Amino acid sequence: VKMAGKGHHRFFQPALFETIRHRRELEQALVTALEQDQFLVVYQPRVDTQSGLLCSMEALVRWQHPLHGMVPPLEFIPVAESSGLISQLGEMVIEKVCQQMARWKSFGLQLVPVSINVSARQFSRGDVHLVLASALARHAIEARLIEVEITESAMMDEQNRTLEQLAAIRALGVRLLVDDFGTGYSSLSQLQRFAMDGLKIDRAFTTELGRSEQGEVFVRAIVSMAHALGMSVVAEGVETQQQLDMLRTLQCNEIQGYLVSRPVPAEQMLELMLKRRLL
Ligand code: C2E
Ligand code: CA
Ligand code: CA
Ligand code: CA
Repeated sequence: VKMAGKGHHRFFQPALFETIRHRRELEQALVTALEQDQFLVVYQPRVDTQSGLLCSMEALVRWQHPLHGMVPPLEFIPVAESSGLISQLGEMVIEKVCQQMARWKSFGLQLVPVSINVSARQFSRGDVHLVLASALARHAIEARLIEVEITESAMMDEQNRTLEQLAAIRALGVRLLVDDFGTGYSSLSQLQRFAMDGLKIDRAFTTELGRSEQGEVFVRAIVSMAHALGMSVVAEGVETQQQLDMLRTLQCNEIQGYLVSRPVPAEQMLELMLKRRLL
């Protein structure tokens, strides 16, 4: 940041300056973190609302900083995205997930699909499908056991490039889910064009269930639309039994949320896999 020059430039906003410096430091720390392998992946179960059985899980990245402790993803994912480090970070997550799945498999556990979050910015490098294919092959994991979650906004960004990679990912046999559904502007035609297999209703709508009539109306509409298009529906952020009861009535296929479990390290996930019945 240039601070010299004309008089009024000296009266820069301290908060902004702090932010920029913090951002630079964060970027540098992220580079180090990648080199030193300071990341880990935690898993949150998804449960079939009809059977009550574990049916899949979401992989969520965590940064274990040696000094600052656990840094939540919302504090570093945006920095990784804007600095271009997201592709490397994303590749590391894919690698760790496949490695973990191979480990579970070696224990004789029955694997369930794991979904991985992929940011819009990861598609700009153009090789997400190759990264996935390579990790799946190296760890001998079937493609049907991996799902990719992308936000509605990712479907809008750089449409052609993203579309090509999504098609290639799907051609591998990996399922595609729309994340945070309801917060963006995707249209029915886009959901079809991108051949999405399922969608995850954003937590904001789950929270409205039982609080307002609007919540119920919205979820009912999403479920019927999704089912008409042959997509399955997951509700995120389910925290109460009342929400679960309503989601069951509304025929939502799966739930994910603190009601069942917080995201947990792989060792704890193993116990949930053995238990299987989570509702
Ligand atoms: P998301 O994909 O929408 O993930 C769901 C978030 O909701 C997670 O936050 C999860 O811990 C939290 N959550 C789950 N159940 C409940 C609940 O019942 N109540 C409440 N209040 N929260 C719940 P988390 O792990 O902090 O991740 C935040 C966001 O960071 C994710 O939102 C995702 O957008 C991003 N993220 C996480 N891991 C990755 C990753 O590996 N790659 C990329 N690109 N983004 C990631
Ligand atoms: Ca997600
Ligand atoms: Ca969400
Ligand atoms: Ca999200």
